[in-house]
Amino acid sequence: MPKEHPKAKLIKRSNIVISTWSHGIKANEEAWKVLSDGGKSIDAVEAGVKVTEADITNRSVGIGGRPDREGHVTLDACIMDENSKCGSVACIEGIKHPISVARAVMERTPHVMLVGEGARDFAIEQGFEKYKTPIKEVKKDWKEWKKENKELLKKPRINHENHDTIGMLALDEFGNISGSCTTSGWAYKMHGRVGDSPIIGAGLFVDNEVGGACATGMGEAIIRIAGSHTVVELMRQGKSPQDACRLAVERIISKHDDVTGLQCGFIAMDVFGRVGSYSVYSGFNYALQKEDGKNLMV
Ligand code: ASP
Repeated sequence: MPKEHPKAKLIKRSNIVISTWSHGIKANEEAWKVLSDGGKSIDAVEAGVKVTEADITNRSVGIGGRPDREGHVTLDACIMDENSKCGSVACIEGIKHPISVARAVMERTPHVMLVGEGARDFAIEQGFEKYKTPIKEVKKDWKEWKKENKELLKKPRINHENHDTIGMLALDEFGNISGSCTTSGWAYKMHGRVGDSPIIGAGLFVDNEVGGACATGMGEAIIRIAGSHTVVELMRQGKSPQDACRLAVERIISKHDDVTGLQCGFIAMDVFGRVGSYSVYSGFNYALQKEDGKNLMV
């Protein structure tokens, strides 16, 4: 039987799941199955984002993701539970479910983060499913991109064409919050580039005394302010999830001379079940599912 939240009498005890972007709708449905069966938030956030990781039509998360400049699809993911335990993998190749490998790092190693070949070796040793990437259609697009962008191969710059992440937060009926985050990162990034998504405190942060937050958008900018951690700390100081996300975005804006093309967004949920989101530019949306229904929130 899962442990109840230590402040169980004060906080919200209801199933709620939120995740970034419209791909979150399907992911939330899977997470919801776990929650409505009386399951734990950590199981819900893993099951939920696995739907997006396995969707070969998704070009910014999982096995259908676009590669780096050299043609490698390198995936980043992390997970954090209600006891502040966390696990992460970065720059992992050819593994179907990085989020489950991140969870295995959390549960089966003394470490928090494994990267590159080490992460892949661990995944294989633990029996996780392999998957050959890039998929055919993605490889074709990459070859065309290379022909049209010869100068970028010599002098990289951040590419705004294709990116996105699924970040998910779930609250379960025991009053506990967990979160997950997974992405293929920026299309045609430099080989070895890692963004915010697998970095605990940047792409995801959960403190079960307060709430959780996830980020999407330009990882470099999110890391600079330890974005998701900042949102959670603002909630700890009494800000609503909405205000906490707004203040974190304003901090990002204040740290850049020019935010042209720099999109970042946060979602957050507190232990009272309140949710919020904010982004540098409009156009960011998230999926919300709770007892009284589900919506795409803009
Ligand atoms: N945050 C991701 C990264 O920087 C991309 C995104 O969410 O758009 O890799």
